[in-house]
Amino acid sequence: MGSIREKYNTGRTVFSCEVFPPKKDQPIEPTMDRIKEFKDIVPDFLSVTYGAGGSNAGHAVEIASFIKRDVGVEVLSHITSVGFSKAKLDDGLKSFSENGIENVLALRGDRPKTMTDEEFDSRDFIHASDMAEYIQKNYPGFTIAGACYPDKHFEAPDYYEDILNLKKKVDNGCSFLISQLFFDNDKFFFMREVMKKTNIKAPVSAGIMPITSAKMLGTTVTLSGTSVPKSLSDIIAKHGENDEDMKKAGIEYAINQIRDLLSHGVDGIHLYVMNKPEIARTIFEAVR
Ligand code: FAD
Repeated sequence: MGSIREKYNTGRTVFSCEVFPPKKDQPIEPTMDRIKEFKDIVPDFLSVTYGAGGSNAGHAVEIASFIKRDVGVEVLSHITSVGFSKAKLDDGLKSFSENGIENVLALRGDRPKTMTDEEFDSRDFIHASDMAEYIQKNYPGFTIAGACYPDKHFEAPDYYEDILNLKKKVDNGCSFLISQLFFDNDKFFFMREVMKKTNIKAPVSAGIMPITSAKMLGTTVTLSGTSVPKSLSDIIAKHGENDEDMKKAGIEYAINQIRDLLSHGVDGIHLYVMNKPEIARTIFEAVR
């Protein structure tokens, strides 16, 4: 337990999964029951998402604390800075600290539709790298991670500028990175090459999302801006109408992606399985 960064020094691939907390007005117990099932999969850590702006963060702190204290798995708490003043970030970090959380994923987040101009304008941090710098300076007890984008972040004018911005993030304290989900491994390998040339040395976990329905792919692509290779769109065309076949084929696609990444010496695999331990189990059993 402790700093997740150290897990990348052991010479073996770091396996992690992402989960999300229930909304504040929803009961927390069903999510806790799902999350308990991750224990026997033995992930290196679970990461807990955070609603941009903080108002949608729901039970994020309680779920993160539950993972660490009750499930006995190390946790990475996401935190988003959009609409955050320094005082609000201080409150969030203190609450993490009081709950034994030592690792944070520093994200900018995207402006929620419900956020007022006043809330948006009150932000003290423009980029994730600004927040990382603040956390590193004022809360040295936290290990900080950051996000990176094999398909380029949708706002960046070009790939290289995005990577130069990523370097600022790492220089400002992000000691390991988790990638946005991607379906084409060549994009990830290219990003690693460009990072190497830019002297970015932080380890990177590859973000993999098993696509288990045609509808899910549509939503995912809209939210992440990730490109879809022909091999995956062929799977959707062939199995999209049949739920069971589609699920099987989507999981198989993720397993093949991960096997290829492992054979190329990836530092870590981060599964976007979103509270579905049974899918994580099937995949980890196949690839570990
Ligand atoms: P930044 O690093 O700030 O980058 C955003 C844009 O600004 C990029 O185009 C970048 O090139 C540019 N930029 C960065 N720094 C500079 C600079 N110094 N000067 C000029 N331009 C700059 N969202 C949520 O709301 N909750 C979550 O829990 C969540 N979890 C995520 C987990 C992962 C692993 C990933 C990959 C994304 C997650 N997101 C989450 C989505 C994320 O908030 C969005 O992708 C958001 O648009 C960008 O966040 P960022 O931290 O990468 O931003």
